[in-house]
Amino acid sequence: MLDLAIIGGGPAGLTAGMYATRGGLDNVTMFEMGMPGGQITGSSEIENYPGVTGEITGMDLMAPWPEQCQRFGLKHEMVEVLRVEHKSDGNFTIHKGDGTSEDAMSVIVCTGSTPRRAGFKGEDELFGKGVSTCATCDGFFYKGKEVAVLGGGDTAMEEALYLAKICSKVYLIHRRDSFRSAPNTIERVKNTENIELILNTTINEAFGDAMGVTGLSVKTPDGDRQIDVPGIFTFVGNNVNNQVLKDDKGIAICELNEQGQVIVDLSMKTSTPGLFAAGDLRIEAPKQVVCAAGDGAVAALSAIAYVDEKLNT
Ligand code: FAD
Ligand code: NAP
Repeated sequence: MLDLAIIGGGPAGLTAGMYATRGGLDNVTMFEMGMPGGQITGSSEIENYPGVTGEITGMDLMAPWPEQCQRFGLKHEMVEVLRVEHKSDGNFTIHKGDGTSEDAMSVIVCTGSTPRRAGFKGEDELFGKGVSTCATCDGFFYKGKEVAVLGGGDTAMEEALYLAKICSKVYLIHRRDSFRSAPNTIERVKNTENIELILNTTINEAFGDAMGVTGLSVKTPDGDRQIDVPGIFTFVGNNVNNQVLKDDKGIAICELNEQGQVIVDLSMKTSTPGLFAAGDLRIEAPKQVVCAAGDGAVAALSAIAYVDEKLNT
């Protein structure tokens, strides 16, 4: 039986692995279906991880993390986890994609979340080269420049306001003429001088050159229009990777909120004893590497305390 199973090997999972093994748990396995590192490895530039200066890719940032963890005894199994079962004796069974399973006394789930794609032409090809789903990560690269934002929910509106403070102008493109976001946020957007609302409009195509995005073509009620911007931020919703927590009937083993995010307290404890969640899949996650790593450390400390108590009672 594992002391601790960690599901997902992004910044949250790797940091949890380091803290758990270095903190005294002997038998810890991190289950990651791909190469460890998480979604930041797809980013061409990261400049907001503390202490790391200079031009560095997400891949460069994450490269030393697995080795650091392995030095303290973290085991990595490259396999997809299908489901975490909470057993009647209080322990957990990890059901894996290769048909095998493993029992664990405690579990930290760090499977992240995935921003949805809007589906316009050029979106995938130019993703990370001007098409972004993260204003906090990439907004600064467009300081003093014009950018476009797609979406009409709270995220799009709040991120448009954030970008309007950095960029010279924000074109906010939304497919309808009413918004999903909170009324006061809508008012703030409407009252921001350098945000232009382009409503009842969809993106036909984003285009660019070897350097990245140069503009986009949109379909408005008055016909097609070209907007020349080097950056397009899409906020069309998020898929929380919470499937491992659900059984065949879709019932989760811990409490989730309406958006499917895992409800945790400040110790990263879920509603189920011995089950912890860290990183982008938890409620109110800032969706930043430094925050996911911090969550992982907190969750590991909680898991160590949980296992210690269980073994000593
Ligand atoms: P993830 O990094 O999403 O890791 C989750 C891991 O779990 C993945 O490796 C996945 O393969 C694995 N997994 C999922 N399901 C399973 C399963 N069933 N079985 C096994 N493994 C599974 N943040 C910043 O701080 N600064 C930036 O500049 C920045 N730029 C970004 C640019 C891009 C293009 C993207 C996409 C994100 C960026 N972010 C940035 C956000 C940052 O990447 C995330 O906040 C962070 O990676 C979240 O870490 P995590 O460990 O919670 O999840
Ligand atoms: P969301 O509410 O689902 O909004 C997604 C937006 O993208 C919608 O306006 C939708 O248009 C649009 N859209 C979806 N698919 C599209 C496509 N293919 N092409 C173009 N547009 C598309 O997502 P969210 O804004 O990320 O918010 C998710 C949840 O988190 C919400 O419940 C939200 O209230 C909450 N949230 C709250 C806060 C806060 O309280 N401060 C902040 C952020 C998020 P339609 O409107 O036409 O469907």
